Amino acid sequence: MANKIFTTKLLKWFETERRDMPWKQTTDAYCIWVSEIILQQTRVAQGLPYYLRFIKKFPDIKSLARAEEDEVLKLWEGLGYYSRARNMHATANEILEKYDGVFPSTYEKVRALKGIGSYTAAAIMSFAFGQPIAVVDGNVKRVVSRYLAITDAIDDSGSLRQIEFWAQNALDKKHPADFNQAMLDLGATVCLPRNPLCQECPVKSGCGALHNNLTAIIPVKVRKNTKRSRFFHYLVIQNKKGDVLIHRRAGKDIWKGLYEFVLIEKMDKTNLTMAELNDTLKALGLGTKYSVDDTVYCPDKPHILTHQQINTKYYSVLINKYDDLLLRPDLNFVNRGNLTNFAFPRELKAYMEKFLI
Ligand code: SF4
Repeated sequence: MANKIFTTKLLKWFETERRDMPWKQTTDAYCIWVSEIILQQTRVAQGLPYYLRFIKKFPDIKSLARAEEDEVLKLWEGLGYYSRARNMHATANEILEKYDGVFPSTYEKVRALKGIGSYTAAAIMSFAFGQPIAVVDGNVKRVVSRYLAITDAIDDSGSLRQIEFWAQNALDKKHPADFNQAMLDLGATVCLPRNPLCQECPVKSGCGALHNNLTAIIPVKVRKNTKRSRFFHYLVIQNKKGDVLIHRRAGKDIWKGLYEFVLIEKMDKTNLTMAELNDTLKALGLGTKYSVDDTVYCPDKPHILTHQQINTKYYSVLINKYDDLLLRPDLNFVNRGNLTNFAFPRELKAYMEKFLI
């Protein structure tokens, strides 16, 4: 009964307060998938132009599958969490091969695709296929944990099960897409993480957190482990023509597939010594004839990722003489004017915009 009152009030509110965005005016599973992946870890205002550019360039599964990974990463440049773009590209190829380019329409098949977790699968199933599956993301967890006044940590398995069970029961089985979107909108615009707008909330009369004065402490979160600090010292190496030395990141580390300058990673933030510079340039095949600008550029703030904090420093190095044939094979000198054709992490792009392009 309590669920029914909640659902009725929520949907009534949604009739007038719904947020209109391009991906809400479609039931195309591909467009919904793209929007959901872009909006993971990204605010709507930041994600919207990326979504529009992405759909324009890759309007369907086939066009995305047939693109080069570099093209996809370039379009993603600046959004961060680049594994999302790589996974989408791989998934588009999987859908093309396994399902002839048609997005699968069962929860199990969608959930089995690379990069699609339970939230995204539920969103695709309800928004594209009208299936009665409740979505549970950070917004929904916040709304439900406050409404039910759950004072245990929300990511505790018991709390999570309680929230999922409650949301699934409250879901309007005839209008699952509206219900899910209304929950997401309520969390994003009214039941805000800090200072929720309870007086404007359609379900305030039944809200446990509001009536027990607990809105400031719910949702309860377990303190996460501290982030790992890393120290990236970048050598921005230019030849006399002004070409800049870059390479593509490989391996299983962050920013895989993106481009960067020559990197020396250290355990701390102390500047590179001349001996470290000498050894590195020799190992790259760049000889010993170079000059280093005295000014080391260090951004004001570190770059924050989910589990890591990246501290960068940039050293400008001018190479006077070197032998092309000795240059390490994965490195390429690229004209400064062409750097924008390559996808760089946001942090490096900010440096380039300030000093190189
Ligand atoms: S009354 Fe306040 S705390 Fe409760 S659901 Fe509404 S906005 Fe969130």
